[in-house]
Amino acid sequence: MEKTKPSIQTDVGKVLAILQDNQNWVCGTHFQQGNNRFQKFIPTYAQRVSDLNKLGYEISSQKCNIHSHRGNVAMYRIKLNNPIQERLAI
Ligand SMILES: [Zn+2]
Repeated sequence: MEKTKPSIQTDVGKVLAILQDNQNWVCGTHFQQGNNRFQKFIPTYAQRVSDLNKLGYEISSQKCNIHSHRGNVAMYRIKLNNPIQERLAI
C-alpha cells in the first residue's frame, strides 16, 4: 500500500526526512534542539513520530544509549523498504 508522504513543509515531513537521512538511530534531541538539516526546533517530535507510525511508516524507538541524558530521552529509527547496508559502529 502506498503511504501518504507528508509535506516537507510540515513538522511531520521534516521528522520523516531527518529519519530517512540518517537511516540509523536518531536521538530525540536532534529534533528538539534544532540539530538537523532544517535547523528546525521540533519539540513535539515524539507526537510527530506517532503521526508517522499512524501513516504506516515503521519507526522504532527506545531509550537513547548514544548519550548520557539525565532524563529519559528516546531515540528513533525508521525501517526502510530497501535498507542500505548499515554503517559499522566503531
Ligand atoms: Zn541522546
